[in-house]
Amino acid sequence: MNQVIATPTAPTGSTGKVNLLDFDRQGLRDFFTQIGEKPYRAEQVMKWIYHDLEDDFENMTDVGKALRAKLTEVCYIGAPKTLLDKAATDGTHKWLLGMDSGNAIETVYIPEPTRGTLCVSSQIGCALNCSFCSTGAQGFNRNLSTAEIIGQVWVAAKYLGNITHQNRRITNVVMMGMGEPLANFENVVRAMRLMRDDLGFGLAAKRVTLSTAGMVPLIDQLSDAIDVSLAVSLHAANDDLRTELVPINKRYPIAELLAACQRWVARKPRTSITFEYTLMKGINDQPEHARQLIKLMRKLPTCKVNLIPFNPFPGTRYERSDANDIRDFQTQLLNAGVLTMLRRTRGDDIDAACGQLAGQVTDRTRRSADLRKRQDDGALHAI
Ligand code: SF4
Repeated sequence: MNQVIATPTAPTGSTGKVNLLDFDRQGLRDFFTQIGEKPYRAEQVMKWIYHDLEDDFENMTDVGKALRAKLTEVCYIGAPKTLLDKAATDGTHKWLLGMDSGNAIETVYIPEPTRGTLCVSSQIGCALNCSFCSTGAQGFNRNLSTAEIIGQVWVAAKYLGNITHQNRRITNVVMMGMGEPLANFENVVRAMRLMRDDLGFGLAAKRVTLSTAGMVPLIDQLSDAIDVSLAVSLHAANDDLRTELVPINKRYPIAELLAACQRWVARKPRTSITFEYTLMKGINDQPEHARQLIKLMRKLPTCKVNLIPFNPFPGTRYERSDANDIRDFQTQLLNAGVLTMLRRTRGDDIDAACGQLAGQVTDRTRRSADLRKRQDDGALHAI
């Protein structure tokens, strides 16, 4: 049973108008009722927005002239503005999207032979402060609105020419960009509803993935709220090391996280969870770490591990694992029967790896200032 997420009081832009990208289908129907229109009109407009990627009411030819004029007066369709877009030689594409107060977020498209994955951000910066993460090092500013989240898919789809619903180039969306998506629960769920809705981007549950660092109570809430896939940023299989890498582990240790994952799988028996494990040289890439991970994964036999070679960024104290260690770690897991994938690093020439998304964050946590000071003091070294 889906949890009801309250219809937002849609934030109005500087013009005082309502942004229709802030509404899921029910919210849009309610809005049309509020302005004295039949709710089915909302679905007509929704199809224009997400199937035809249209943002001008005047081009919605099957909407009557009077309604088009009314909509132009009271609302708008406003995706984030592109400040910069960069293409890597391997086809990976990155957009820098402008937010308020000089902030910016990043969205990345990764094409593969059989699919195209869009990595979407949920916050400006991130408050969770994982020690190996480029976004975490920048501090936190605010949550993104529903429009700013679904708007990333809209911008990318428009750019990629995702015009027809059947012949789409974005086949998968992962909430794996800047931010902890469960910390912005309502806006993220509403945006994922639009990703899933047939009148939205129409993606199947297995093609929309939310990745969390482990906000345990919200994993259960997510399972009630919407049918999507789950990924967990694990990165270590013992509590001491995980707390060092992913500090929220102190509040929700591995045993509690695994129990939440077991509840998720029990409620969605045909689904699997992906555990992300970023390999850092000498930190979490040794045979004993693989043994610990194997022991954990025995508790979730249908789930899989995604190994990610660390992508160094200026100021980090971590290094990418040696190729031999990465191969040995994967072999150890595979020999133990753990389904294990090794993520190829993509878009190296545009810094496109997840956890590498930089954006521009006006930090409200002082964390970025602390990092700069430590760099100045020589406590950290750039790799
Ligand atoms: S890894 Fe994810 S949760 Fe951790 S700081 Fe980075 S963006 Fe936030």
